[in-house]
Amino acid sequence: MYCTKVSELARLIACHECAAIYRRTPIVPNATANCQRCDAMLYRHIPDSLNRSLALYITALMLWVIANLFPFLGMKVGGIYHENLLFAGGWALYQNGMGELGLVVFLTSIVFPLVTILGMIYLLLPARLGIAPPQAGHVFQLVRTLEPWNLISVFMLGTLIAVVKLQELATVVPGLSLAALSTLLVVYAMARSQFDSETLWQRIEKIKALDTAVTSIRSDDKILHCHLCDGLQTKGHSCNRCGAAIHHRIEGSIQQTWALLFSALLMLIPANLFPVMTFKKLGKGAPDTIYLIEGGLWGLGLIVLFASIIVPITKLLSLSFLLYSVQKNSNWKPKDRALLYRVIEVIGSWSMVDVFLVGLLSGLVSLGLLANVTPGIGASFFGAAVILTMLAAHQFDPRLIWDRSHHNSAVAL
Ligand SMILES: [Zn+2]
Ligand SMILES: [Zn+2]
Repeated sequence: MYCTKVSELARLIACHECAAIYRRTPIVPNATANCQRCDAMLYRHIPDSLNRSLALYITALMLWVIANLFPFLGMKVGGIYHENLLFAGGWALYQNGMGELGLVVFLTSIVFPLVTILGMIYLLLPARLGIAPPQAGHVFQLVRTLEPWNLISVFMLGTLIAVVKLQELATVVPGLSLAALSTLLVVYAMARSQFDSETLWQRIEKIKALDTAVTSIRSDDKILHCHLCDGLQTKGHSCNRCGAAIHHRIEGSIQQTWALLFSALLMLIPANLFPVMTFKKLGKGAPDTIYLIEGGLWGLGLIVLFASIIVPITKLLSLSFLLYSVQKNSNWKPKDRALLYRVIEVIGSWSMVDVFLVGLLSGLVSLGLLANVTPGIGASFFGAAVILTMLAAHQFDPRLIWDRSHHNSAVAL
């Protein structure tokens, strides 16, 4: 079987969700090309992508600095004024003996956003100036790995709920940091949407004067697709471009996803049995479970109910269903199952809102005898359950849905 179909690997693209192979064709500015089989986006044409995303990442960096240096929220009760910096939530959890949860809050709301922003500037600025950044592959891998764990948007929702909840106790004064963080959220999302990794890698390869490889492939070659940078190759265990480990499919995906799901389920049991926090007003107060529906705060209660009960259960059930269908080699509506997987990935992190809320409230409410919030061990179990379900979703390989169904024409050149 030689050379029945010879093509140029560099001009091909693999769908990252179903592994169908397409030839890249030029598209008009701002248009997107989608997979015909599963509807996932293949690539976009973003005009001036590198300059635009670089400008936005630099703006995001400045906003990050403001958000961390200036007061976040202040509380006024009678004569007492109490002000907090952004890291107060994580710190309060640490001081209450829940360091592991404090660390999660600190990493996902402060450290990971900074590392990804700096990493992107590190890649984009030299490339813009005509220099190939050293260790570009490692930095790119780091950025792509941390991106799903940047939870500023979830943190902001937690802040919003905390502010509404605290209104009943005190006058809440938003600080400059809060404004900077809200703007950062928007700027960061714009920077991500303007960045096109293919343009960056082509630029870096051009600077290095690498032969951007017109590699012949044979029809019986297995095309390996790098999940991080979307590069394609036919041989090897690591990506030629970014160095990430590369597999035809994620190894042991099914077993590992099941294991993570069961661990998450186990964690949800103590999360519901132990209090998540104790809210004491004038010395009186009862331990709060994750429901939080009380005195007139129905709207908030519903958001929290959605994040803490409905999202985790939907996620557990949906992932179990996907795993079961893949194990049974099901042909049932692969396009719908692919969509379900996409939804699970997007909603998963929103459950962290409860953990942020507990951190924020414990950090903000330390008004002595007037009111006090103490985090409970239930919050740690709940945080662990959320992280485990997020890991499970990452470990599941959506390409298995297509491999095992009869809609199996993976090459659509
Ligand atoms: Zn696809
Ligand atoms: Zn790669």
